[in-house]
Amino acid sequence: MDEIIVFDTTLRDGEQSPGASMNTAEKLEVARALDLLGVDVIEAGFPISSPDDWNAVNEIAKMLTRPVICGLARCTKKDIEAAASALEPAKKPRIHTFLATSEIHRKYKLEKAKDEIVKLSIEGVTFAKTFTDDVQFSPEDAARTELDFLCEVVQATIAAGATTINIPDTVGYSVPSRFRVVIETLFEKVPNIDKAVLAIHCHNDLGLAVANSLAAVEAGARQIECTINGLGERAGNCSLEEVVMALRVRGDHFAKRVNVDTTRLVPISRLVERVTGIHVQRNKAIVGANAFAHEAGIHQHGMLKDASTYEIMKPEDVGLTASRLVLGKHSGRHAFKQRLEELGYTLDDDQFERAFGYFKVLADRKKEIFDEDLEALVEDEIKDVPETWELLNFHTSSGSGTIPTATVRMMNADGEAVTDAACGDGPVDAIYNTIERVTGISARLTDYEIRAITAGKDAQGEVSLALDIDGRIVRGRGVSTDILEASAKAFVNAINIHLFQARPTQ
Ligand SMILES: [Zn+2]
Repeated sequence: MDEIIVFDTTLRDGEQSPGASMNTAEKLEVARALDLLGVDVIEAGFPISSPDDWNAVNEIAKMLTRPVICGLARCTKKDIEAAASALEPAKKPRIHTFLATSEIHRKYKLEKAKDEIVKLSIEGVTFAKTFTDDVQFSPEDAARTELDFLCEVVQATIAAGATTINIPDTVGYSVPSRFRVVIETLFEKVPNIDKAVLAIHCHNDLGLAVANSLAAVEAGARQIECTINGLGERAGNCSLEEVVMALRVRGDHFAKRVNVDTTRLVPISRLVERVTGIHVQRNKAIVGANAFAHEAGIHQHGMLKDASTYEIMKPEDVGLTASRLVLGKHSGRHAFKQRLEELGYTLDDDQFERAFGYFKVLADRKKEIFDEDLEALVEDEIKDVPETWELLNFHTSSGSGTIPTATVRMMNADGEAVTDAACGDGPVDAIYNTIERVTGISARLTDYEIRAITAGKDAQGEVSLALDIDGRIVRGRGVSTDILEASAKAFVNAINIHLFQARPTQ
């Protein structure tokens, strides 16, 4: 069976989605999980865009040896050099360079004629080739490009040495039958098309990214670009979990092989949710909370007789298992470390000690500790942002007929404890007003979400929020069995991230 190359761009296109930015430690965690998932190519970032992006690509290139590690670059020397230097330690580096080809982009964005576009594309690919053999070229907005011109650009860039040609539906405008024609035409009209792998990159503005990608596969495309949870600019990209499961479940129809360990789909989806603070909707295919839930009586009756009456795949196939009791109050250092390793986490000594300390506190508060709890507390420890402000303790009083007030004690970077008090519309608001007074930072809460990590009344609550501080959005996250404490921790986390990002750099 032909193999479909799974190209994941969660760390590049996904990270570009509003509010989804990740720090380097978080990107490394996601990259490790993508490696375990078995994707073939990881697009790790856009190195020229920021020093942090360059650094993340570089660290991932050092860390992972199995997958191809890809860096994005516009068709300019500076971009390509930045990508090449970031990818220098990679065992299998790929430079992905792109240039817009559609009439709208040529006219309004680039102000360049067709022949200039072809020339620049060739130059970009040729220059990238001096750093690595593995060069991918994307004619941006290909889906809206005149077909004859698209064929011309593709032929020229393959001749220049591009080994993968990616056809993006940049604005999510295509429909499956039309996209299929685009791919078929390339196979018909481009004489050297067999010298490169044909890829697609579909956006989901009309909810058709997965359908368009599958139509392209039927027409002969061999690489699918996708993201975990369908993250990406605007409505996002083709969702990895959906497209992979479509190829797997309907193997009878597509007859293509994908090298992905599907039992890791739900865990990585949860990881990306936690790291980005962007949660998938309950009815999301494959990974949504309701994807395998059966409510209707008539369905339940059928399910009890035979699961296949209403289920086309098993929850275990995608890594959905019942919450598992793993550790308790009396579990020691060794058991804790071992379970973390089984979950795919490697912490340094300092992170481990902090995580273990919190585990002990948690075990006192909560009888049973599940994998989800461990994941949440480890994610808490790998935030990799210095704790400029640390929450020491807080007290609130609220109730009907009283004015909610909070007292908060925090420690600053010099190790001094600062205490203050304030009132608010409710206990959370009172805590936030007090933290603002203590830190001297005023923030506007633009998003606040709370959810239980596991079932049960003693479950940990996870608060993820977004603050607008001086016009910049920062996300924070906090976990605790006490939702007020989780709320406070999330707020302090966002403030620390803000201070870290706003620090003077030399
Ligand atoms: Zn994109």
